[in-house]
Amino acid sequence: METTKKHNFGAGPCILPTSVMQQAATAVINWNDSGLSILEVSHRSPEFESVILKTQLLVRELLKVPDDYSVLFLQGGASTQFSMVPLNFLTKKGAYLDTGYFARKAIKEAAYYGHVEISASSGDREYNYIPDCDLSKCDADYIHCTSNNTIEGTEIFSFPRSGVPLICDMSSDIFSRVINVRDFDLIYAGAQKNMGPAGMTLVIVKNGLLDKINKPLPSMSDYRIFKDNQSMFNTPPVFSIYVAMLNMLWLKDNGGVEAIEQLNIRKAARLYAEIDRNPLFAGLAGLAHRSRMNVTFRAVEPAHERTFLDFALGRGIVGIKGYRTVGGFRASLYNALPLESVEVLVKAMQDFEELMKSNMKVSDTELTY
Ligand code: PMP
Repeated sequence: METTKKHNFGAGPCILPTSVMQQAATAVINWNDSGLSILEVSHRSPEFESVILKTQLLVRELLKVPDDYSVLFLQGGASTQFSMVPLNFLTKKGAYLDTGYFARKAIKEAAYYGHVEISASSGDREYNYIPDCDLSKCDADYIHCTSNNTIEGTEIFSFPRSGVPLICDMSSDIFSRVINVRDFDLIYAGAQKNMGPAGMTLVIVKNGLLDKINKPLPSMSDYRIFKDNQSMFNTPPVFSIYVAMLNMLWLKDNGGVEAIEQLNIRKAARLYAEIDRNPLFAGLAGLAHRSRMNVTFRAVEPAHERTFLDFALGRGIVGIKGYRTVGGFRASLYNALPLESVEVLVKAMQDFEELMKSNMKVSDTELTY
């Protein structure tokens, strides 16, 4: 079967392991030799029930989820969680860490439901760092943070501690590094980075937090309903869950989160080292908070930006254009991106430097793909 040949640094939906896509493609035609496509089986069939159960168990195993937490599969993307969290848990006020574009979106939605307190913000410097915050006196219903700021390229390496429930949007770094689930009361993440194709949203929630809800809620926005119905209150995103299961099996076969974290550290270190060495490029995020998943940088000479994008494209490097509000470049290094792709990008940056040094114009051959 033909496989993708590009080096896909896209921020999401993003690269998935080739073997996972091959298995998924086979299942679309003939799932487990059943003569049926995965797309046409009932979500109530014993076969799919075993898929959803297995996916839950894999989440539990890979992230070492304690028994008093529920693992739920929802829909509506992480964006739906921006409103579902306050709908379920905000009564007095919600405390938010304002660390970037998606954190701001979460704040905006929460404000529809009650009082929002910004505990700390890095908005003063274009969100290029993670702000310090003392939450020891926090009296909010919960604290909300974003573990990895996908657009700005910053990541939280030390999570806030307080007696208040901690809720975390882990959309862009879940399964990329070891976490202690007990540090959080609720974790949510859209699937389309390190989990699988878009469509499913993972929620890991401490049962004790759900017990505190004492109001009726619309069914599709009520975590308790999803828990009580094993994520099958309505038709779940069957294909997205199935591919997430395949992807988690791939992760398990490759040493789990512990092993992938080591590889992710190496990939990020390799690219940041080149950004820091190469006089044509400059990193955007503060050193201590540089994301391992989304590496943001810019061309020192703005005129080089377009030229380098074309130069990189000529080598099969796609998806490195920075988000429109930030500009520059963003190379996303999610779990399935191999170290070899990072090497190809680094080499392109080095060759580009040589090319600019010799003051040659980028030849048509380099620009033709
Ligand atoms: N939070 C973060 C950190 C994200 O990167 C994204 C985008 N993938 C979202 C939330 C929004 O996710 P979705 O598009 O699944 O609603």
